[in-house]
Amino acid sequence: MKCALCGIEAELEESHIIPKFVYKTMKKNSPTGNMRMVSEPNKKVQDGYKMKLLCGKCEDLFNVDETLFANIIYHKFQKGTLTNFEYDEWLERFIVSVNWRGLYLDILGFVKEQNINAKELEYLIACEKKLREYLLNINSSLEGIENHVFFFNEITEANKEIAGMNLHSSIGGNIGGYTVVNDTYDCAYVFLNLQGFIIVTILKHSKDDEWQGTKVQKQGHFDLTTPQYIKSPLMDEFRFISSEIKDSKSKLSDTQKEKIKSEVIKNQEKFLKSKAYERLLHDKNLNEKYQKGNQ
Ligand SMILES: [Zn+2]
Repeated sequence: MKCALCGIEAELEESHIIPKFVYKTMKKNSPTGNMRMVSEPNKKVQDGYKMKLLCGKCEDLFNVDETLFANIIYHKFQKGTLTNFEYDEWLERFIVSVNWRGLYLDILGFVKEQNINAKELEYLIACEKKLREYLLNINSSLEGIENHVFFFNEITEANKEIAGMNLHSSIGGNIGGYTVVNDTYDCAYVFLNLQGFIIVTILKHSKDDEWQGTKVQKQGHFDLTTPQYIKSPLMDEFRFISSEIKDSKSKLSDTQKEKIKSEVIKNQEKFLKSKAYERLLHDKNLNEKYQKGNQ
């Protein structure tokens, strides 16, 4: 089979579509030590989604940037100890490597489902090529494609709609992303939410897009206390995701609910120290604050 990145005929490895360390942290942060996918809440997930995509050489190429991202940013972010960090080209390479995998698979999906128009598809294919050539060091420029990061922390102020969305649990407690193409706003994005660390590749801005404090350069510095601001049609997707998660929770069978409950009771101490519990509290606080403010 041909490697999706370098195109060379080789024995392909079982590649993680979303890096493995992300699943490891999610499992550790889960009160019961298990993970569930939004699409199939009644099933435990062992190790994340894998498929034969890359040759060994390309896997190794991605591993270098993944390891740096995990050690310098991700583990500390999940522990809540990340206040600032320096980066150079590995950060952009990491984001591109992850979002390229997403875009590549989404293009295959769009073609299979035929739920995209020819102009949009052509555009996405051209972007996929740009990202791939950047990763292969054929081209050092991304030619107008931008990468951004957004740090999802505790929300202390919100309107009624936002407060009721339980975003701490739905964004902070989950992994997921996809390609967004929007004809109305003439824009396209690929994003992935890594439990509150959100990486976005903007393939094409809408004319109203405003992104402040989020852009990844060739090298730089991020301070997590500096406010970030995003105005973009992409934000609608987070509304969509949180409603999907609400939906998925309601699909949890009674047997599974009982199982989770008894696992939580068995591991009570672990649960009270877990990130999942902390997120529930943040959601509750925000809801209560809104209720009080409106009485
Ligand atoms: Zn390869």
